Amino acid sequence: MARTKTKVFQTETKQLLKLMIHSLYSNKEIFIRELVSNASDALDKLRFSALADETLLEDASEFGISVNVISAENKIVISDNGIGMTEAEVVENIGTIARSGTASFLGNLTGDKKKDSNLIGQFGVGFYSVFMVADKVEVLTRTAKGSSDEATLWSSSGEESYQLKSAEKETRGTEITIFLNDENKEFAEKSRVKFLLEKYSQYINFPLSLIEDSGESERINKSEALWLKSKSEISDTEYSDFYKFISYDQNDPLLWIHNKVEGNNEYTNLLYIPKNPPFDLWNREAPRGVKLYIQRVFIMDDATNFLPLYLRFVRGIIDTSDLPLNVSREILQEHQLVDTIKKSVTKKVLDSLIKMKKNSLDLYKEFWKEYGLVIKEGPAEDFENRELLASLMLFASSINEENDVSQTLDDYVSRMPESQEKIYYCVADTFEAAINSPHIEGHKSNNTEVLMLTDRIDEWLMSSLMEYKGKELVNVAKDDIQDSEKPKVSETDQDVVTKIKKHLSDRVSDVVVSSRLVNSATCLLLPKNEPGAQLRKILEAAGQDLGESNPIFEINLKHKLLKRLTTLKGKQFSSFVDFLYDYAVIAEGGSPKDPAKYLRQLDKYLS
Ligand code: ADP
Ligand code: MG
Repeated sequence: MARTKTKVFQTETKQLLKLMIHSLYSNKEIFIRELVSNASDALDKLRFSALADETLLEDASEFGISVNVISAENKIVISDNGIGMTEAEVVENIGTIARSGTASFLGNLTGDKKKDSNLIGQFGVGFYSVFMVADKVEVLTRTAKGSSDEATLWSSSGEESYQLKSAEKETRGTEITIFLNDENKEFAEKSRVKFLLEKYSQYINFPLSLIEDSGESERINKSEALWLKSKSEISDTEYSDFYKFISYDQNDPLLWIHNKVEGNNEYTNLLYIPKNPPFDLWNREAPRGVKLYIQRVFIMDDATNFLPLYLRFVRGIIDTSDLPLNVSREILQEHQLVDTIKKSVTKKVLDSLIKMKKNSLDLYKEFWKEYGLVIKEGPAEDFENRELLASLMLFASSINEENDVSQTLDDYVSRMPESQEKIYYCVADTFEAAINSPHIEGHKSNNTEVLMLTDRIDEWLMSSLMEYKGKELVNVAKDDIQDSEKPKVSETDQDVVTKIKKHLSDRVSDVVVSSRLVNSATCLLLPKNEPGAQLRKILEAAGQDLGESNPIFEINLKHKLLKRLTTLKGKQFSSFVDFLYDYAVIAEGGSPKDPAKYLRQLDKYLS
């Protein structure tokens, strides 16, 4: 008689179980999805391990998963002939040790039950979901490894503890018996289980069958990998369902990209762009990447080397016959073929975005709203596709009065008069600040369009793009005036300029007479090769020491404040120059060193 050992669940596991049972139950039907997916994982693992060690497949039985509904006893039994577990593995995987998944699952709960129950699968805590419907669960398992034919029986009611004992099992694999609790007897009905298997598990890559009390067996899925079928044989619903199956997302995807590439480098990709970005889009450590299959054998989740970082929201699979089956993450990093595939799938994803922009601009705008910031990282990472990426970008523009982010660089170029050679942009914190910036007064008055950039990353983006289709991208806040364009300055005016320069010598690098300011009296310009305020922040945050740099002070001699300045002398002159300097600082979105003094001066000059 085998001895039964009782072990207490680890604290975090207990916490998780409580949560499952008492608050996430609104979507409890997913327990079937989770257990079937574990069975499928176990078969994937066996198939993969058997590549190196054929003896694991000794009994030669065909891979498969069966779900047995025993209505009379309110039981469901889910069996697989996958890798199985040793006793130690049972303890480690579904026992006392809190695996990393548990902690991050608990840390990521949002309180939205629907969302949270979707996290169950993503964080590797799926097994415990069975306790949402069961008052007892038994796991009978025998490992495919080693020669011992001893099996382990794990059982628990999902409360404090679980029991372990050695048992007998004729074949390798795992058999999970679910004793449904009184409230969940519905799951002991064949039609209900069939419906759920079809809903959640039809894309399982192994034969999945439903077995009834009578012993009658019914095949649920086709188990031919969807991506291997030709496009014309796959309906939109199938594409969407497959996406939901691999992503745990309940929404349809925004678009998919399915290609079979033959020839020297053979591979198939079925990639998806989710409608909404994953919640961890901005977490650099978050898992990302595609599922990798080699010759239809599942190799790994989250293979990161097939897509650039700026496409980290893309989900899906890549299946190739040209990588070694024993490939590791390290090998992937260096393999020539991986690079080739990455280049070509990246191009395909970008092309499909271009197509979407052309064919359904409204949908594309939705995409841009969700992912624009990530795409803007692209040009710096992917020099080769710089121009393609730039053509995907949407900007607000001075042709609109409102912040309507809808103009492409191509739109801009198509509106450029022949005489205009450059593409102008204005960087500010808000659209209002940009559209009212003194820097674009001149452009406005001669109807030159200016793009309005308000994302933190924009200045950095523009400086890494530098040009678009041969047209230089120019920041309107930077000194870009050719000597020939500079206005002629009379001798008396030059005197004023010199005096201002002398007074502001510690704050500005130069004082110039403006040819562009219309309504404003003064503004600050950046020297051509200096980073602006936004970029400065980014670079400094990255640890670069940029040193001090003084702007150029631009004055509008036609403005009445400047006219007034010329009537002043001595201390009055200096203090008015201070006032005009603060005026420019404020227009830049900055604040004067001494605001109270600024206001006092304003009062004085008004009266
Ligand atoms: P995940 O599947 O994300 O790892 P689960 O909570 O669903 O998380 O499963 C926990 C672990 O239990 C699995 O990683 C696996 O090691 C083990 N396991 C669960 N079901 C099976 C099974 N049918 N065969 C073999 N191992 C299993
Ligand atoms: Mg699982």
